[in-house]
Order: sequence, then C-alpha cells, then structure tokens
Amino acid sequence: MTFSSLGVFPELVQALTNQKITQPYPIQEKAIPAILQQKDVLGIAQTGSGKTASYVLPLLMKLKGKTNAKNRDVNTLVIVPTRELAIQVGDVFNTLAKSLPYSIKTTAVYGGVSINPQMKGLYGVNILVATPGRLLELIENKALYLSNVETLVLDEADKMLNLGFKEEMNSIFNLLPSVRQNLLFSATLSPEILSIERVLLNNPVTIKFEAQEANLDLITQTGYFVGEENKGPLLRKLIQDNKMQQALIFTSSTKEADKVSDKLHKNGITSRAIHSKKTQGNRQESLDLFKKGKLQTLVATDLLSRGIDIEFLPFVVNYELPRSPKDFIHRIGRTGRAENPGEAITFVTEADKHHFKVIQKKMQRWVDMVDTENWSFL
Ligand code: AMP
Repeated sequence: MTFSSLGVFPELVQALTNQKITQPYPIQEKAIPAILQQKDVLGIAQTGSGKTASYVLPLLMKLKGKTNAKNRDVNTLVIVPTRELAIQVGDVFNTLAKSLPYSIKTTAVYGGVSINPQMKGLYGVNILVATPGRLLELIENKALYLSNVETLVLDEADKMLNLGFKEEMNSIFNLLPSVRQNLLFSATLSPEILSIERVLLNNPVTIKFEAQEANLDLITQTGYFVGEENKGPLLRKLIQDNKMQQALIFTSSTKEADKVSDKLHKNGITSRAIHSKKTQGNRQESLDLFKKGKLQTLVATDLLSRGIDIEFLPFVVNYELPRSPKDFIHRIGRTGRAENPGEAITFVTEADKHHFKVIQKKMQRWVDMVDTENWSFL
C-alpha cells in the first residue's frame, strides 16, 4: 500500500517523502479513504499510531477549491485537549499544506497566552486547531463563527474528558451546523467516549489500532526497588552509567517534577521541568530544547505526556508510579516507537510494590527487578 494508492495528492506524497514517510501506517490506510468519502470516523488510536496524518492529509485535500475565505467562518475545526497538541497538530497541517498549489490557512489557538493576536489571526482561516476553553472565549468575542464548519475533529477525546472539558465540548457541539462530518479519535474506548460517539457520530467507520502490544515488545523494561530517599542518587547513577543523552522522567506531582529537575541541574545534568504550572512559553521552550537534544533530561507529569511527540526517545524513567496502568503504558510508549527499541526504567518503593504488580498484570508483561538495597553509593 502506498499513499498514492490511497488517493493522496502527489504534492502531499512528495512532502511526506521529504519527511521520510513513505509507507502508510494501518490507521492511515483505513482512515484516509473513509474521510475522503465523507464518512464519520471513530479512531481508537494512541499517539505514535500516525493518527494525526490520517486526518490531516484528507482534510487538506478536501479543501481544494474552497480556500479563498475572506471572513471568520471556519471550515475545518480540530479540537484538542492541550496547548502542546494544538501547536503540534497546527504544525503538521502547515508543513504539509505548504506543498499544495492552493493556499490553506491553518491557525492554532489555545489558552495561557494573550487572546488579542489570536483574534486578529483568525481572519480568513480555513482550518482551526483549538483547545475548548479558548475556542469558546474567541467565539464569545465574535472572533470566529462555527456555522459553516464542514468537518469536526475531536483529537484525544478521552483526555479532553479527563481534563474536565465535557461541558465546553457540549457548548461547542451546540454551535455547529447539524450536517457535518465528524471524526473522533481517542486512545481508549470508555463508556464516556461511547456516549459522545452516540451524540456525535453518524454510522461511523470504526478503526481500532492497537499500537500497544507492538510497542511494548520494543521496550526493554527494568524495575529498581529503591527507598524514597535514594531515588535521586540512583537516578543520577543510571543517567551516567547508561550515558543517557535524552531521558524523559515522570513524576506524579508538579512539585516533585520541579524538585527532581532542580536536583539534576545542581548535579551537572541539564534538566527542565514541564508541567501545568509552567507558562506556555516556558513549556514550549523546554520541549524544543529537549527535542533538539540540547537538554539531557525533561521531567514531566502525566498531564503533558501525551503532547510530547518525539520520534525516537531512548529512555523513559518512572521516578514515581502513575496511579493508572494506562498512564504507565502511555508513558513508556514514548520509547520504542517507529520500530526503534527503547528502555523504560521504573523506581519501585516498598509502598509501590503492590501497585506495580497491578500495573504489570494490566500490561501483561513482567518486569525484571533489581534490588538496590546493598548498593554502596546510595
Ligand atoms: P501521531 O500518532 O500522529 O502522533 O504520529 C506519530 C509520529 O509518527 C509522528 O512523528 C509522525 O511524523 C510519524 N508518522 C506518521 N505517519 C507515519 C508513517 N506512515 N510512516 C512513518 N512515520 C509516520
């Protein structure tokens, strides 16, 4: 299967080839033709499955001949849970759109930054990528209208619900025209997602892509039994021994993320923390530095983990366990992507032992454990 055989325009195929993307992923094989045929789609897929391109490509194609809008009527609306994802998805649209012979204006809007430039930037927009809260604010300010939306995309809908955006989402749905195409993407299929599906989708093509199994097989996992007080020294030792140049470290609170990051920094390991209490500018800067390899470690909380799209991440460290096994799988799924092997390291304290067993059971993988009790440096 090639992108051309799916009907993707040659200019877009070339733009993909320039990014070394030549073979469609399974979700793309199914979603691209369905979206081009104007069908509603329910995609159960995680970051790393190629879901973004699976809707970006056909949506760009469908705008051919419709892009001369001189108004504030959005044609394609993509709703995402976080600022990071908004920027990321906006970039994918813009990068691919550049190759087309017709011009398409894509704008990403999100909270945490001044609203005025975003209001001005919405004139003549075709594709809008937005977080729910800021979208509603912009609508209240009459900076855009949704009455001509032809396609609605909800990306990472499960996360949107987890972040408590249900009411905002309903307000947005009420402003949309009743005849439209709907695409719903979610990493999981929970009862809540099914309830949205019932409201939103009309006889959808359902695409389930279980990236999990394949990904986990590429990940070497090691667990370390360690006392809370020894986690810092153990982390530094592992970073040094494994010569880690790019490690994503997870904590369960913003406070702990700051603490771990500060401590690493004091010990000569470049590090920044990225979480909801940091400003948008600061988060983006940290992510950029990390992606470019200018930052050895990034310490993150789960909230942001989905927005972190890095092609190949060699190391993930669970400094603290997440509550949900799904989050654990999601965290370690940052490594071992795109057929590159990765390594996931997990710290387990006495109090964590039972919970880590639950996680392993859910993941259907048993992790080799190392006991650090007698390690002299600790
Ligand atoms: P996503 O699941 O949309 O977050 O995409 C994950 C990553 O896979 C992105 O970095 C894409 O550039 C990359 N990607 C998407 N489709 C393909 C493909 N068909 N072949 C190789 N890489 C891809």
